[in-house]
Amino acid sequence: MKNHSVVNNMIACHQCDSLLPMPYLLEGQNALCGCCGAMLFSKKRDAINRTLAVAIAGLLFFLPAALLPIIGIGAAGLYNDASLVDCITLLIDSRNYVLAFAVFMFTIAIPVVRLITALYISWCIKFQKIKPSLLVFFRSYHLLDTWTMLHVFLLGVVVSMYKLSSMADMTIDGGLVSLILLLLCSTLVSVTIDQHNIWHELEKSLEQ
Ligand SMILES: [Zn+2]
Repeated sequence: MKNHSVVNNMIACHQCDSLLPMPYLLEGQNALCGCCGAMLFSKKRDAINRTLAVAIAGLLFFLPAALLPIIGIGAAGLYNDASLVDCITLLIDSRNYVLAFAVFMFTIAIPVVRLITALYISWCIKFQKIKPSLLVFFRSYHLLDTWTMLHVFLLGVVVSMYKLSSMADMTIDGGLVSLILLLLCSTLVSVTIDQHNIWHELEKSLEQ
């Protein structure tokens, strides 16, 4: 959510601090500040259904991304490949426990919990099953949003592939394709989720 605050149906502009009455928006419309023209918030089109679809797609790509080999390396007649889980297992075997824990948390646990949280929040709002516990889930989603490091891991894989490509034969396996699709879904959730509308729905239902 942007740095603006909402108090009793008023909204404060994050650019010029003007306090403005909260406008009612239709899907696809943007609310602009009357003083400085900054965008206060927008109401995204079909946000709940799109978030649900993207979160489900992301969760479907998770298992292949974790279990299928990411890259295969062939040299001197030998061939080896490794999946994301293999990377973590190898780090544990080599006693790099902190690194193994970090890879597990940032590439498996946090992205998956974040997708499940987005799915659960969207599902509850779609079917009007709003409970006070959803506030905890939504705050957790905000917290996890900054801790997903899938893109960093993917960048590491690409750099490794580039460096190894001159020394060995490289093959791209299904795990890498699934990982890219999972990263795409994980990023799309941030785009499709309408945080302003979710806060509004939660406040409206919990006040009743
Ligand atoms: Zn303003």
